[in-house]
Amino acid sequence: MGSTIGIDLGTTNSCMAIYEAGNAVVIQTGEGPRVMPSVVAFTPAGDRLVGIVAKRQAITNPKDTITSVKRLIGRKYDELSSETFNVSYDIVPNEKGDAVIKVSDGKLYTPQEISSMILQKMKYRAEEYLGEEVTDVVVTVPAHFNEIQRKATKAACTIAGLNVKRVLNEPTAAALAFTDAVERKKIAVFDFGGGTFDISILQVVNGIFEVKATTGNTQLGGDDFDARLVEWIMSEFKREKGIDLRSDPVAPQRVREAAERAKCELSAALETSLNLPFIASSESGPVHLEMSITRGLFEGIIKDLVETTRPLCKQVLKDAGISPDDLEVVVLVGGSTRIPLVRQIVRESFEQEPVHSVNPDEVVAMGAAIAGSVVSGQRKDLVLLDVTSLTLGVETLGGVMAPIITKNSPLPIKRSKMFTTAVDNQQIVGIHVLQGERDLAEDNRSLSRFELVGINPAPRGVPRIEVSFSIDANGILFVNAKDAVTGKHQEIKVNPSGGLSDEDIRKLMREAKHNQEADRDRMKLIEERNFADQLIYESNRILRTRVDTIDESLFEELEVSLEKMRTERDGTNIAEIEQAMRNLNSTLNIIKNMLKMVESLEDKDAPDDFVSLDNKSEDELTDTQDQ
Ligand code: AMP
Repeated sequence: MGSTIGIDLGTTNSCMAIYEAGNAVVIQTGEGPRVMPSVVAFTPAGDRLVGIVAKRQAITNPKDTITSVKRLIGRKYDELSSETFNVSYDIVPNEKGDAVIKVSDGKLYTPQEISSMILQKMKYRAEEYLGEEVTDVVVTVPAHFNEIQRKATKAACTIAGLNVKRVLNEPTAAALAFTDAVERKKIAVFDFGGGTFDISILQVVNGIFEVKATTGNTQLGGDDFDARLVEWIMSEFKREKGIDLRSDPVAPQRVREAAERAKCELSAALETSLNLPFIASSESGPVHLEMSITRGLFEGIIKDLVETTRPLCKQVLKDAGISPDDLEVVVLVGGSTRIPLVRQIVRESFEQEPVHSVNPDEVVAMGAAIAGSVVSGQRKDLVLLDVTSLTLGVETLGGVMAPIITKNSPLPIKRSKMFTTAVDNQQIVGIHVLQGERDLAEDNRSLSRFELVGINPAPRGVPRIEVSFSIDANGILFVNAKDAVTGKHQEIKVNPSGGLSDEDIRKLMREAKHNQEADRDRMKLIEERNFADQLIYESNRILRTRVDTIDESLFEELEVSLEKMRTERDGTNIAEIEQAMRNLNSTLNIIKNMLKMVESLEDKDAPDDFVSLDNKSEDELTDTQDQ
């Protein structure tokens, strides 16, 4: 049997892991870092970029660089109006009213399709790493995701050619990865990432992980802190220089990147500075953005947002029926938990220091890999119980919601309730499936509507209609309505009206599969070109510095290699591109080393960019020069 990998499909970054030799091991994305940015971009040349290469070109291609797609998955366009989206691409409604992405050539992409592109690249990387085909996965979602969002995430996996063995709540995964968990009794998982916030209480008894309670905010994350900081920086800049950067096509993205960097630095330092040269121009010439930000100022800017997590911590303890004293451990997940103000709220809410021993960026994927080992039968010592995160029910007379499965019920589950007709001789009943905690139907999320027809004419209140809800281990809901007299029944798998139909998914799957080989080659070519572009850029910079102290023939050699590189870069032969890169890199390195040596002899400060690619000693440098 092939391996089951664990995938944390994150808002900002995604990570995957595999259970090997008794441990969960993170699979490198092949791009350096162990996590992959959840970013997809469409370039003017018609290329599709995924991951780090997509993130890198975001500044110059903001309209077609898709970030934070997890915030859109399974959501209606109308629901988004009140939210802040720190993104530069267009979000529009499609004909079903779903939020979709519109790129500059007018093409529309559903969030499922964009997510599938990220997943496809992860699948490809996992296959490279394992040397075998990967299809089975455990994918994680925030505990607070509703049925539509879960279904949409599953659809994204299916399109990417992945077979979802389990959709796992992120806090359950985090608890699973926490090695001591088996011995612990009650665990709080505080998960604050780029786009979502979740807090869960899990109970672990003899290897059984049960989510006792969970709450959160699917629309709160580090992106919101970035947005606040960007807003502050832009206002400050306008106040100081009288220039509004908001209307500039490139400046906002540069400010956004700098703001996120500053935010991360402020988790460790008390003060940081922003430095964005040539951010704008005025009559008197170029204008630079330079300002410093203290941690205190940053905390003031985000405090009200962070404070919204405090009542949710109280709420989750109440829902689980425990006090902070009952908690044995508090686990932190997600990049935003590195912010000291966030940690302070965790400490105060749970009256204890959270653990820092697990890497907050990898813990969910590692837990998903452990769950993978459970579902594939590799590990038999663990059982996973998940619970419903929200109450499910139907609309009844007067627009009132009648709960059928209450929140925090263990999965899988089946529950039924009897209903009747509201008027005499009613032959059709409409079943309106809802999810949420509010009393009125209109305040809850509408999941689906269908009709049970052919009820025998009878006075109101006489027919007996049994409505059953069942949720499988993946959290997918099936609803059945049955007329107890005639036996007529109607069943639906809640196929969210906001999502893709099965036929849509099959079509996209066929397309993705058909393009898989071509996509892989194309992806490789795009990446090679990306590396080539960096080398070309670097070579041009070096050529501009041409100094007399270095033999002119070396610069000429560089020019020849550069020309060859430019020609090959536009071709499609990967081997030739790689050869041209090797040649160019070797000449470039020789010149860089010599420049470094000349500069050290002249006792000048070398600009940072000239730091040698390889760390050779002075002696070795002389050798290189002699050759
Ligand atoms: P995740 O969704 O878990 O990958 O978390 C990503 C979010 O964490 C992004 O908003 C990052 O900017 C944020 N983040 C990562 N590292 C830090 C840090 N050191 N301090 C503050 N926020 C961070």
